Amino acid sequence: MRPHRALVPHLSPEIELRGREAHHLLEVLRAKPGDLVTVFDGKGLEGRAVVESVEAGILRLRLEQSWEASREVGVPVELYVALLKGDALADVVRAATELGVTRIIPTISTHSVAKEMGGNKLERLRRVAAEAAKQSGRTVVPVVAEPVPLRQIPEVEQGLVAHVGAELRVREVLEPAKPISLATGPEGGFSPQEVDFLVGRGFRPVTLGRRILRAETAPLALLALVTAGEGL
Ligand code: SAM
Repeated sequence: MRPHRALVPHLSPEIELRGREAHHLLEVLRAKPGDLVTVFDGKGLEGRAVVESVEAGILRLRLEQSWEASREVGVPVELYVALLKGDALADVVRAATELGVTRIIPTISTHSVAKEMGGNKLERLRRVAAEAAKQSGRTVVPVVAEPVPLRQIPEVEQGLVAHVGAELRVREVLEPAKPISLATGPEGGFSPQEVDFLVGRGFRPVTLGRRILRAETAPLALLALVTAGEGL
């Protein structure tokens, strides 16, 4: 069985876990003294630790070994995803983390149904990213940024915007060794002016096939073509 994984603030010889992380290891995974735990700091350092003691919900670990580890894509992959209504963004954050995204920036555009996001929701999305990073064996937890209006997207080095009716395929334009920025639209799609704006910022419109994908499916299809599809 694979050792449990725990996200810790930093890797030190003695690690003390409390709160949510300790609760998960103790109550859900039933960790006990002597068990091995893979610890990671979310910034690229990973290690092997042994559970030394469990007392009043506090878990003490002894670090045996640590190493620089990476199952990361190798170049920054940022995703400008339209702010979505309900809980749809949580599913996008979870799967995008598994697919190797490094930064997720919810964006607000003309046809967005949702126009704002509360602080609690942002916190929850960040927890979803941390949990998905842990479960998928990532060593870096992607950043979930505060929502920004689409017009604040800066110029990018290599950008792809999924746009219904575009003809270019991702594999025809993708340069996998360069940092990449991706953009997908809201339930109502991008306006033509917004697509022009993104093109001006360095994004190339690409197709995701002949069908219309939901606003929560499109970011994952686009990301999968860039990372999973390239074996990254
Ligand atoms: N009626 C809208 C339109 O024509 O743009 C549909 C929007 S779709 C539900 C939401 C977003 O998913 C789009 O803005 C686009 O970014 C992406 N998308 C969905 N299907 C796509 C496709 N076949 N090719 C490229 N992008 C697509």
